[in-house]
Amino acid sequence: MSPGTLYLVATPIGNLEDITYRAVNTLLSVDLIAAEDTRKTKILLDRYKINKPMVSYYSFNERQRTPELISKLLDGKSIAVVSDAGTPGISDPAFYLVRAALEKSIPVVPIPGPSAFISALVVSGLPTDSFVFEGFLPQKKGRKTKWESLQSETRTIVLYESPHRIVKTLTEISTYLGNRHVVVARELTKKFEEVVRGPVQDVLQTVSSKSPKGEYVVVVEGLKD
Ligand code: SAM
Repeated sequence: MSPGTLYLVATPIGNLEDITYRAVNTLLSVDLIAAEDTRKTKILLDRYKINKPMVSYYSFNERQRTPELISKLLDGKSIAVVSDAGTPGISDPAFYLVRAALEKSIPVVPIPGPSAFISALVVSGLPTDSFVFEGFLPQKKGRKTKWESLQSETRTIVLYESPHRIVKTLTEISTYLGNRHVVVARELTKKFEEVVRGPVQDVLQTVSSKSPKGEYVVVVEGLKD
C-alpha cells in the first residue's frame, strides 16, 4: 500500500480570512488533523465548516506522538499538521514529524500561507533582500552569547517575542547592538494591529509607556558596513 501524504498547512495569524482555498480544501480532504491546540483549531474549522477528527500535536508531546502519526501515514491515511497560528514548523512543532516521514519516504507537502515574521519583515521598511530569522531568543542560557553573535550581523534580524519579555529584549538590543533602527510589529492582522518604527531607544519608550499585550515580531536593522 502506498503511504498517505503529510501536509503542512499554514493557517491565519489572527484574521480568520487569511487562509487559502487550497488550505481549506486540504483540511477537507485529509483523514486526520494534527493540531497544536485542538480547541483553537476548532474555531477555524467551524468557520469553514470542516468536520474532521483531530489529535493534539504540540511541543511537549511531539516526539511521543510522532510514531503513532507515522504509522497512520504508512497505513495510507493522509494527515494535515496545523499550528495555533501561521506556518507549522516555524517556531512551532512539525520538524520531528517531517524528518520521521522523510525517513520512511512518506510524501511531505507544504500548503503555504501566513507566517508572522514574513508579514512583519515586509512592512518593516528594513532591507528584505537578506535577513536572518532567529525566532525566540534563548530565555536564559545562551542569550548573551546570541546577542554577541548578532553584533556583527549585517542582515536584517527578525525575532519573535512575547509581551512579558518585549521590554527586556528592546533594552538588550540597545545594550548589545546600539541605538539601531527597529520595528516592533504587534498583533498583525488583528484588531489592535500596530507597527512602531524608529531608533530602539524611542521604540522602547513607546512600547513601555503602556503595558505590553499581544504577540510581537521585532525586526532589527543589520550592522551597517
Ligand atoms: N508558526 C508561527 C508563524 O508562522 O508565524 C509562529 C508561532 S510562535 C509559537 C508564536 C509567535 O509568533 C508569537 O509569540 C509572536 O512572536 C509571533 N506571532 C504570531 N502571530 C502574530 C501576530 N498576529 N502578530 C505579531 N506576531 C505574531
